[in-house]
Amino acid sequence: MTQCSLGCVFCQNYDISHEGAGQSVSPEGLAAMMTDLAEQGCHNINFVSPTHVVPQILEALPHAIREGLSIPLVYNTGGYDSVETLRWLDGIFDIYMPDFKYWDEEKSERHLRARDYPEAARMALREMHRQVGALRIDDSGLATGGVLVRHLVMPGAVEDTRQIMRWLVQELSPDTFVNLMPQYRSAGEVSASAYPEIDRPIAPAEFEEAWTIAEQQGITRFDSRRQPAGRRLFIITRDR
Ligand code: SF4
Repeated sequence: MTQCSLGCVFCQNYDISHEGAGQSVSPEGLAAMMTDLAEQGCHNINFVSPTHVVPQILEALPHAIREGLSIPLVYNTGGYDSVETLRWLDGIFDIYMPDFKYWDEEKSERHLRARDYPEAARMALREMHRQVGALRIDDSGLATGGVLVRHLVMPGAVEDTRQIMRWLVQELSPDTFVNLMPQYRSAGEVSASAYPEIDRPIAPAEFEEAWTIAEQQGITRFDSRRQPAGRRLFIITRDR
């Protein structure tokens, strides 16, 4: 079943993350889905919000590997994962794609329904980085391993962006690869009456400011596809 470990009120996939959908599948069936994707030419197997089904994934993987699965495994998460769960994945997942959404506990409680989110995300990202290090990209531009941090720029949260970028550089790694995302829009439970402070998209100038802040804090590796219009050409730094 789909679900998510977080309860973001603005979730754009509210029906599948909050309410759940899907069907039961055996370990062998899940393994077959993975090997089918690999045979179709997929570059990796990307598990989205998989925290609550980690045991089932770990049960299916041996079957998939026996069938020849060898492409990288991606753990794509909101960042609200326990270190204990992540330790089960040590040596198994190649790429971690965590969000780091908010630095502020009040916003985390109101918009993510998890007041302890900032500390949980810091601990989770530290564990992910300990396991796989900074993102590595091959000569064809494909990620082969490491951590890729995503940060959705939220309305009125520029200070969160600043603190998160500073922490990534100073406490995680100056080589941290960041995907700054501009696509926030009202969704889920957000409305003018319920959450007026986030009932709007971010302005282009806000996204540009977030990008500038990230650079000022020392981030040098960005997903350049998200670069604000009109800025200088930005080259993704290759792994060293
Ligand atoms: S972490 Fe992502 S998928 Fe989960 S509730 Fe928040 S926005 Fe939705």
